[in-house]
Amino acid sequence: MCAIVGVYGNENAAKIAYYALFAMQHRGQESSGISAANGKTIRLIKERGLVTEIFDEEKLKVLEGSCAIGHNRYSTAGKDSVLDAQPVFARYKLGEIAIAHNGNLTNKYKVRNELIANGAIFQTFMDTENIVHLIAKSQKDALIDRIKDAISQIEGAYCLVIQSRSKMFAIRDRFGIRPLSLGKLKDGGYIVASETCAFDLVGATFIRDVKPGEMIIFEKGKEPQSQMLFSEDEIDFRPCAFEYIYFARPDSIVNGKNVYQTRVECGKRLAKEAPADVDVVLPVPDSGVAAAMGFANELNIPFSMGIVRNHYVGRTFIEPTQEIRDLKVKLKLSPIKPLIEGKRVAIIDDSLVRGTTSKQIVKMLKSVGAKEVHMRIASPEIKYPCRYGIDTPTKEELISNHLDVNELAKHIGADSLGFLSIEGLKDALGRDMNYSLVSFDGNYFAGGCADSLDCSEVL
Ligand code: AMP
Repeated sequence: MCAIVGVYGNENAAKIAYYALFAMQHRGQESSGISAANGKTIRLIKERGLVTEIFDEEKLKVLEGSCAIGHNRYSTAGKDSVLDAQPVFARYKLGEIAIAHNGNLTNKYKVRNELIANGAIFQTFMDTENIVHLIAKSQKDALIDRIKDAISQIEGAYCLVIQSRSKMFAIRDRFGIRPLSLGKLKDGGYIVASETCAFDLVGATFIRDVKPGEMIIFEKGKEPQSQMLFSEDEIDFRPCAFEYIYFARPDSIVNGKNVYQTRVECGKRLAKEAPADVDVVLPVPDSGVAAAMGFANELNIPFSMGIVRNHYVGRTFIEPTQEIRDLKVKLKLSPIKPLIEGKRVAIIDDSLVRGTTSKQIVKMLKSVGAKEVHMRIASPEIKYPCRYGIDTPTKEELISNHLDVNELAKHIGADSLGFLSIEGLKDALGRDMNYSLVSFDGNYFAGGCADSLDCSEVL
């Protein structure tokens, strides 16, 4: 998951990066960092915690310069430690460099082991450190050529912002798996960010998405320059479907499509494929809201926010003891009894992974007197782990690998259960693009595979 941002050509670069990261906090809550370059040096501040917990006016003042890059971390590769926070900073032959990365490399260990065998020492568990080493080790003279050299040796999902003391580079892998957009700042300069919701907050105008396989180079006194890093044959645009289903913010435009509207569409398709004869449609807040609206509208059934979400259950919440673990969902979600009691209820969520959430929600709805509970999921059954940066567990932990829909309905205690089909999802997303549907169809590409986090080990 993770969010990245790069700001170039604006004296308030660090502050703009800070607000952009704040807008993209949903993409990662583990750690955040911003590095800023003023032409002479790069300064970096990164810590564990939320953006607003880490930065204040004083810290942002330290981060002076007209170029800043930033990162919110959700660990999918590496460990949960401050060492694994980004941007990753290094000093090397050409000076100083900082990198922020979103996505997972599928040949992480192969590259890492080769580097280690040749004497490299690693400080972190992150695949991003491979890129730093590859740039530092390259025999090319110019940084841009060293970056190209590094890119030619990595595989998988990556959106990158790379900063030297005077330049910035934005790069998207040849499959365009994770999103990256380019915008223009009102009072001068440019911004690249994982999601367009960051542009809305800082008042930037969306220009376009960074293309799959493209590098955009930002240099003082010049307009941004675009270079394609791969030939046309090598480019195979497969944006991640999960960005629309769960991950991106509803107000973002991802690859030209609004996330909220896509979710509503998923709900409508779901209603056609798996309707429910019920009195009321409820969403699982917040993840199921848009799909539930689509579902209810399509079937002409009243929609109600029958479950309240406590937004203050955060990262710092004390883990419940084993005895009350069952009630964990109650910390986060609470039913409004008069809206549910005596009613036949359809409850809509965006996805079902291990089945834990669904089971607890069905139990909760029944405990306040729901007459029937029909669970509907606005995406297909998840059977394969994502290798490109969405945090899905192993194949064994994915419950849809063990139970069919009827068995699973029984398991979660629902009167019925329905999923959106893969074809229905394709319709909802639009047939104009080939999406990465790997979690649902196991159709791996870019060096990914189901069996190991590090697919290069298996090959
Ligand atoms: P589970 O309880 O394991 O079945 O997970 C399903 C719930 O987790 C749904 O409410 C989803 O909105 C949410 N979810 C789906 N994917 C993810 C993810 N990668 N990280 C965190 N939550 C997720």
